[in-house]
Amino acid sequence: MADKRGAKEAQKNAELDEFDLEVEKNEKALKKQKKKSIAKIYESDSSNDVKPQTSKKPSKRSKRTDSDDESVIEAPKKKVAKKSKKAADSDDERPKKKTTKKRSKIEAEPDVESEEDVKPKKKVASKKSDEPTTSKKKNQKQSIPPSQNPKIQIPTKTKKLNEKKNAPAVDQSSEVKDSEHPFPFFYEGKTYYCKSLPPNFQQQWDGICEMRKGKNAPVDSMGAGILADKNESPEVQRFQNLISIIISAQTADERTAQAMGNLKNYGLNIQNMIDIDIDKLASLIKPCNNNNNKAKYIRETAQILLERYDGDVPRSKADIMTLPGCGEKVTNLAMWCCWGENVGLAIDTHMERIFYRLRWTNERKRDKQIKEIQAWMPKIMWPDSNTKIVGFGQTICESRSPKCTQCLITSTCRYYQEQF
Ligand code: SF4
Repeated sequence: MADKRGAKEAQKNAELDEFDLEVEKNEKALKKQKKKSIAKIYESDSSNDVKPQTSKKPSKRSKRTDSDDESVIEAPKKKVAKKSKKAADSDDERPKKKTTKKRSKIEAEPDVESEEDVKPKKKVASKKSDEPTTSKKKNQKQSIPPSQNPKIQIPTKTKKLNEKKNAPAVDQSSEVKDSEHPFPFFYEGKTYYCKSLPPNFQQQWDGICEMRKGKNAPVDSMGAGILADKNESPEVQRFQNLISIIISAQTADERTAQAMGNLKNYGLNIQNMIDIDIDKLASLIKPCNNNNNKAKYIRETAQILLERYDGDVPRSKADIMTLPGCGEKVTNLAMWCCWGENVGLAIDTHMERIFYRLRWTNERKRDKQIKEIQAWMPKIMWPDSNTKIVGFGQTICESRSPKCTQCLITSTCRYYQEQF
């Protein structure tokens, strides 16, 4: 009986052991299944970025990815600082920024002319704006028709300017005293009121007139304006007066009169001066300085007068000024001698010197003296002043050795006071 009980107990224990083994097996199998299922879940989650989030220790690759993500944002700044061209080229955002900058520049250019523009933009704009204008001008010059070409219009403008410049001078004096003309001047028994007068001008003028009473100066008998043949026609006399004034430039009156005598003996008229041999003409006026050039002037003047002015001297200052050898002094004197028209002072070397010695002007050159003196001297005395003062310079107030001991105006002469 006891053996049977022991065998049953042993069988029960064996069954229990088998049961335990099966339980263990099942548990292990369950664990394995659990692990497999968990692994599957991880794999499926990893595709949905679940895995990196759960990983406590991120892999190197994940770190790089993070840093790259950051560099995508910060890289342009770093690369700009390094000025790396390759990095800039590899950067996707960089070219976009460049293009935006270029676009912004191009869009900003039309606003360059605004007042708030900065200098660099202005420089760029000025260069850009200059080039087209110069090319435009060149194109304009090339494309302008001859009728509108400024080169052709210039002579007209110049002529108008010359006409304005050579217009008859306006008398600045008045016969009535007023606020603009407060200074009286007595001339030929009449009173004229001037805008201004040099100190002691009345006393000096009266003294010169007193010294010129004898009329013993070369200009009184051989002046260029009195050498025409009175027996000739008025046209020929005007031509002779004009020629005598042209050849008198930089020549003493005695030599001018000698040359004029030669010309008149030959026959001084327009046709003869056109037909004469140029060398023969030069020899006739040899007593004058610069006779060869003056011979050409005479020939050309005769041709112009014949072709343009019906063989007469034009009654216009502007027209006479266009003739060869005719400056302002010659023209003003010619207008007076040929036509009796007082269009301006004819200042020669004597007048130029005496005007400055007496300080009627502080200018030494005659072209400036003309404007200054005509502004205050009564116009009526311009022609007379030429004859009176030229004669005074020929006889007393000479250039190199003025005869101050014979002069009546030493007390008011600046030159005398400075020299003695
Ligand atoms: S003082 Fe002598 S320099 Fe003076 S105006 Fe008379 S001459 Fe001429």
